[in-house]
Amino acid sequence: MSGKTALVLGVANRWSLAYAIAQAFVREGGDVVLTYQGDRQKETVEELAAALSKDVRAIACNVTKPEELDQLVASIKNNSDKLDAVVHSIAFANPEDLSRPFVETSRDGYLLAQEVSSYSLLAVARAVAPLMTKGGSILTLTYLGAVKVVPNYNVMGVAKAALEAVVRYLASDLGPANIRVNAISAGPVKTASARGIKDFSKVLGGVAAHAPLRRNTDPAEVADAAVFLACDLGRGVTGNVLYVDAGFQVMGL
Ligand code: NAP
Repeated sequence: MSGKTALVLGVANRWSLAYAIAQAFVREGGDVVLTYQGDRQKETVEELAAALSKDVRAIACNVTKPEELDQLVASIKNNSDKLDAVVHSIAFANPEDLSRPFVETSRDGYLLAQEVSSYSLLAVARAVAPLMTKGGSILTLTYLGAVKVVPNYNVMGVAKAALEAVVRYLASDLGPANIRVNAISAGPVKTASARGIKDFSKVLGGVAAHAPLRRNTDPAEVADAAVFLACDLGRGVTGNVLYVDAGFQVMGL
């Protein structure tokens, strides 16, 4: 990552997958810019940025607000001549939609999950692509619930299915500019978002008992895979979903 500038969206706290990825990028010599959603996270994320390195900046960006995306892009443009990697580590659904039967999902809840968790990748990619003047890598985070039914994942599973399709269409559109677009499908990790899913601890237990590696996923493993996809080692890979889940997705029972 040396000589590369990376934008990492979606740090809420030290347990965020985005933070593990930012740590790995800094370890590998990258310049990193973090974003957080709003004032509630400002202080925490500024402290986390400072803990990474004195050069890491933290900028507010709610991805549902086009003017904030524009400001983010302008700020990056002012501070560096190019952008090489972007990590989209953002998702949201109403908590009640992650605990009641999927069939009861409201129209508003469905659209909210799609806007924040799927459409935002498209919005971010469109905004940052002009900064990737030497090509680049865009990466998002998805979950097995996109392709299999996972109890209580519900509307988020549908949003992740759309997100994975967005990855493929963006990869096709942006490939001629040498911009690669991929997703990492991470195994379950205890983060603030994951805690919103009813009975999440049962999911963790099921994976530890049945995954080929007989354990859960460590955020550092997700982060190392992100380094691979973000840097030149991953130069031939685009439009892919890479599972970093202790192998759980291959199991039928
Ligand atoms: P997390 O720490 O809660 O990160 C989710 C981030 O999304 C938070 O920083 C959150 O900000 C942000 N966000 C939500 N709405 C936003 C908006 N409108 N604008 C900007 N940011 C917004 O949880 P995480 O588990 O690391 O999640 C990161 C990604 O990994 C998500 O896409 C998630 O689905 C995916 N993933 C997680 C797991 C897992 O088990 N943890 C597994 C596979 C994939 P606020 O805190 O301010 O809302």
